[in-house]
Amino acid sequence: MLADRTSLFTESVIREMTRLALVHGAINLAQGFPDFAAPEVVKEAAVEAIRADHNQYAITWGAKRLRDAVAAKTARFYGYEPDPEREVTVSCGATEAMMAALLATINPGDEVIVFEPFYENYVPDAAISGATLVFVPLEEPHYRVDPDRLRAAFGPRTKAIIVNTPNNPSGRVFSREEMECIAALCQEFDALCITDEIYEHILYDEHLHINMATLPGMRERTITISGLSKTFSVTGWRIGYLIAPPELTDGIRKVHDFLTVGAPAPLQEAAATALALDDTYYEQLRTLYVGKREILLQALTDAGFGVVRPEGAYYIMADIRPFGADNDVEFARYLTREIGVAPVPGSSFYQDTELGRSKVRFTFSKSEATLRIAAERLSALSVRV
Ligand code: GLN
Repeated sequence: MLADRTSLFTESVIREMTRLALVHGAINLAQGFPDFAAPEVVKEAAVEAIRADHNQYAITWGAKRLRDAVAAKTARFYGYEPDPEREVTVSCGATEAMMAALLATINPGDEVIVFEPFYENYVPDAAISGATLVFVPLEEPHYRVDPDRLRAAFGPRTKAIIVNTPNNPSGRVFSREEMECIAALCQEFDALCITDEIYEHILYDEHLHINMATLPGMRERTITISGLSKTFSVTGWRIGYLIAPPELTDGIRKVHDFLTVGAPAPLQEAAATALALDDTYYEQLRTLYVGKREILLQALTDAGFGVVRPEGAYYIMADIRPFGADNDVEFARYLTREIGVAPVPGSSFYQDTELGRSKVRFTFSKSEATLRIAAERLSALSVRV
């Protein structure tokens, strides 16, 4: 009785690993969500909003206060101010944003370019919207864009490219040169750029996030997607947003309206408060994650994994070949069951699953205490494998 499209993708491997972690009492370093508290002032704002009876539908494309806050935040961090009335749409997380963006722009058979490794959602997003994905592997081990390979993927049927930087799962933050290369190809082939910038504020060392819409000629062909989940540790609130030129926004808002009507109204009010927090908040967020990154990098290195230092986001893709392992799924299950630490098998981030066989992904979006227990458990690995 099921529609064919449901056979085009599988259950989320990330969330399957979360369930497996629960069954075995393993530390969940699989699903990227914080196990620590959200900021007090943001929680208070949500409670306040419920008390003040922001409990009915907000305007379908987003409460005015939040759209204004998104515009102000974009001006503050990226130097251009989208029109909150015509260019900003609030969605149920970046997940709905990506689905709405594709449903609003893709005709069956249109090609959408995706770098691999990629965040697993893009495959079902494509299956549901009718897009044909064209995969471009990033050059390993440092996950760089190969301009020739990218050019070869563009063609007359290319409708869009999805650009996820800072990247989940690789931790890569694309350089200005890489972003300019993508921008030039989008213009040459008249393609849209759909960005997934959910980790925009989680950056390390000297790495800077380049907002695609700020590059010359790109604002009119970019759909910028981000949200509150990662920056404010509120993944369960489901507050995301899209910034797009007015003509694209019109289509996106229609799709969004009939998909979900709108994101939770009181949480939209609290999100407006969150986005307006001063620079100290954003600096503290970075410092927090720098510390967590060090703990997990050290733990993985000590345990014998091959690692690449992430430049942004909160994941580490770890090489399992030093253990003589060549099956990421079996290794991830073994680690969960026997060692008590759950990662995600690398192959779930690749279309060419062979490329992911030698890796598992760990998240460090956990409290220091959780990471220390994970480190302790991982130290048993070198003895046992
Ligand atoms: N983005 C997070 C991850 O990659 C959470 C995924 C999810 O469950 N939506 O782990």
